[in-house]
Amino acid sequence: MALRTATAVIDLEALKHNYRVIQATAPNTKVLAVLKANGYGHGLELIAQALPNADAFGVARIDEALSLRAAGIKKPIVLLEGFFAEEDIDILVEHNLETIVHNEPQLTAIINAKIDKPLKVWLKIDTGMHRLGINPEQFPHFYQTIKQSDNIQKPIVLMSHLGCADEKTNPATEKQIALFNELTADFSQEKSLANSAGILLWPDSHYQWVRPGLLMYGVSPLPVSFGINGIEPVMTLQSSLISIREIEAGEAVGYSGAWVSEKKTSIGVIAIGYGDGYPRHAPNGTPILINGRRVPLIGRVSMDMISVDLGDLSTDKVGDIATLWGKGLPVEEVAEYATTIPYELLCNITRRVQIQLAE
Ligand SMILES: *Cc1c(COP(=O)(O)O)cnc(C)c1O
Repeated sequence: MALRTATAVIDLEALKHNYRVIQATAPNTKVLAVLKANGYGHGLELIAQALPNADAFGVARIDEALSLRAAGIKKPIVLLEGFFAEEDIDILVEHNLETIVHNEPQLTAIINAKIDKPLKVWLKIDTGMHRLGINPEQFPHFYQTIKQSDNIQKPIVLMSHLGCADEKTNPATEKQIALFNELTADFSQEKSLANSAGILLWPDSHYQWVRPGLLMYGVSPLPVSFGINGIEPVMTLQSSLISIREIEAGEAVGYSGAWVSEKKTSIGVIAIGYGDGYPRHAPNGTPILINGRRVPLIGRVSMDMISVDLGDLSTDKVGDIATLWGKGLPVEEVAEYATTIPYELLCNITRRVQIQLAE
């Protein structure tokens, strides 16, 4: 007996394929491949090593950058939220890390730092999302200060971030692009604006650097109805059936007896739960793929298990593989059932899930 426990099967060929789709969609741009949150749950170092053509990697925390360096990754790495403490500046220099600057304290810390090598900096301007970035009015002052500082490498990169790029008819994106163009028109530096949705829907946001995350992992940032073609899911999340039992009509299954069968049926138990990152709020009816067909989740999601209704004609056996999402069952669809977004489902994969390469 050797049953599979919760496993994220990672298809690196699909990753490389998606990377090529991105390059074809945003031709003549450089690619900053976004690897934050453990490569969206796919394994930070694994994904980095599988992308030899990426021009740079983007992470959110300095620890993620240091893990990449420890794994021997030599490419440019950019801290997408900037650094969090003055002491970090020495680490950035030592490990040749690039940083976004999005506020005055960061700029002040850099220009006052005693460093023997200038830092590579991406200056982030808020063009309307109102999360990170300097105000447009601050741009001339920041630009002059940067220009005069020997602690900052020239040229810098100018960037901003789109807040509504996944909404095709939302006028916010055109406004953000227009403002970004207006502010940076006289500057010859490289520019960057597009995340995955920008790459797909807003060619005017491509500039010199695109910053794909989700799309690279073969998942669409757009509403399911868009059905974009040509990308393939990199992660297929699987586990196995560890128990099958027959129940009669009127019998309840799982915690609180929250689901009661209306008929005689076979109930399968799959070894995956919210302790692995399967969403606890997935409702009855959330699809799960077993032996080529979709069966409905029933009852409460437990920490280590979920139950499914296999139907009374089921021939499934203990040990059969269940696919929670990935090939054959898009994570976008599971996210809709669980009233969340695929980003959250992917990042929530926990440490006990085995990461395994597809054969
Ligand atoms: C996370 C992130 C991205 C990637 O976003 P996706 O929607 O996953 O493509 C791009 N840019 C920045 C600044 C980010 O933080």
